[in-house]
Amino acid sequence: MAEAMLRLNGIHKRFGELEVLKGVDLDVAKGEVVCILGPSGSGKSTLLRCVNLLEPPEKGEIFLEGQDICKGPGSGSGESSWNLDFVRQRVGMVFQQFNLFPHKSVLDNVTLAPRTVLGKSRAECDEKSKALLERVGLGDKFDQYPERLSGGQQQRVAIARALAMEPRVMLFDEVTSALDPELVKEVLDTMRELAAEGMTMLVVTHEIGFAKEVGDQVVFMDDGVIVEQGKPADVLDNPREERTKKFLGLVLER
Ligand code: ADP
Ligand code: MG
Repeated sequence: MAEAMLRLNGIHKRFGELEVLKGVDLDVAKGEVVCILGPSGSGKSTLLRCVNLLEPPEKGEIFLEGQDICKGPGSGSGESSWNLDFVRQRVGMVFQQFNLFPHKSVLDNVTLAPRTVLGKSRAECDEKSKALLERVGLGDKFDQYPERLSGGQQQRVAIARALAMEPRVMLFDEVTSALDPELVKEVLDTMRELAAEGMTMLVVTHEIGFAKEVGDQVVFMDDGVIVEQGKPADVLDNPREERTKKFLGLVLER
């Protein structure tokens, strides 16, 4: 079997007394889309934040392209070191709140990281970033400021911004949850295209239709553990576990 793009081994994370991740194992192959479902508070965001070392786990291993990213000195207190740089250049993340820089144009939002972190020239970054913005359907918005854009457009800028670092893995944390219903589709379409182009993706979402259509694996989490995982058709249409059934019932009821 090919080496996993990402492999999580026994990930544990606690905040004080609260044990949020209680031993999570997950293998993600290159080009695979893993959709993560689960009730609020089950540890989904924390798991994604472990993967990009925003919240380093206190126990367990995370192999990214075969490298254990928890091993380096940067897994502790946020000091700059090989593993943080390694992760930043390989893992992009998009959040529920778009977190764009309000005083920067759309184009500058996208070019900022490659210019400052990778030290690339403005000309090179502008050209690449414009191509990325075209790709997410925002070729006419380079000069706009975020506040002039709809939520769906802002979220697509955020996706382009993450892609500007040329990541190998993209993490999406409920990226359509803050959007008006009519804007959800344009963002999911962008993610669908990215998946079709072969991006490796971890997607925390309540969009069951998207998980079914685009997901290669569905993972259901509850209370800090993976309760059930497998092919979307199995987990979503024929869940084995009571907790999965109950959750899906609640989500599909909406
Ligand atoms: P989910 O994304 O599935 O809703 P989270 O990973 O955000 O769940 O949170 C899981 C639990 O961890 C929640 O009880 C939450 O309050 C707690 N938690 C998350 N981040 C922190 C933090 N930085 N400090 C303390 N508690 C946290
Ligand atoms: Mg969350």
